[in-house]
Amino acid sequence: MLVGKVGLDSSSRIAFQSHAHTDHFVSGEVIFATKATKYLSHLRKGGFYREIEFGKTFYLGDYRAKLYPAGHMLGSAGIKLWLESGTLFYTGDTKWFKLRTAEKSRFPRADFLIIEATFGVPSFTFPSPREVEKKLVAFVEEALDRGKKPVLYVNQMGKAQEVMKILDVHGYTVKPSREIRKVSRMYEKFGIRFNNIAPDGEVVIRSYRSPMVENALPPWELTVSGFGELKLSNHADFWELVRIVEMITPEKVFTVYGFAEEFARILRGLGYDALPIGRVTDLGLLGVL
Ligand SMILES: [Zn+2]
Repeated sequence: MLVGKVGLDSSSRIAFQSHAHTDHFVSGEVIFATKATKYLSHLRKGGFYREIEFGKTFYLGDYRAKLYPAGHMLGSAGIKLWLESGTLFYTGDTKWFKLRTAEKSRFPRADFLIIEATFGVPSFTFPSPREVEKKLVAFVEEALDRGKKPVLYVNQMGKAQEVMKILDVHGYTVKPSREIRKVSRMYEKFGIRFNNIAPDGEVVIRSYRSPMVENALPPWELTVSGFGELKLSNHADFWELVRIVEMITPEKVFTVYGFAEEFARILRGLGYDALPIGRVTDLGLLGVL
């Protein structure tokens, strides 16, 4: 999205990048982001980043701005902007419930809200993170009982580290792929420790399916994703999204990504003035500026 000359998860001369997933990468002369987002992004791309701390006032172009933890992965941030017409909050990818490897999300009040809608329909109702943890442990136990090798397929940045941390807490060793280990080392620089990485780890963690060659045991596989078999998601589910909107109490909502159309329609039914927008929408054209 564009707000005047600045980009929100959109490339522009001055840009804000909410987190380090590749589908949110931006380019610009200066990219404003948290320190963790900068370092994690630099594993994949270049770019001149300006590090911003959560809760500190700064200027994004001409706009007074502040970052809030989004809870989606380490360093993920939402941004509040003070515009002439009122305040605007952009969630980026976000999560209401606290994950073990991400900061607890916080949401300010704002007049205008741009909210992600990746899982913006009621059929996406996820169990709580603690319930999912129990299911994950049960899966691992069952695999080991049957003499099989538990293999988890996860997004290599964010989700992989969350799964590794959960298994660490529950006393299982892990064997992550090389790319996942690289990202995990960066997490460790930010204080998220993994004490369970071992060359012969009990649980194999991978980001994509490939033939197993290194294990004597047959694989017992599970995809960990809001769209997968085990619904451990680092996105808000439908009800978390509704809670976030209620918390922010905006006068106008713009929905973006995923089920943007459907979520806007549902919000209108709840009495909100809501409209879906595309990821490159210029908010100036929507009367926000
Ligand atoms: Zn993301």
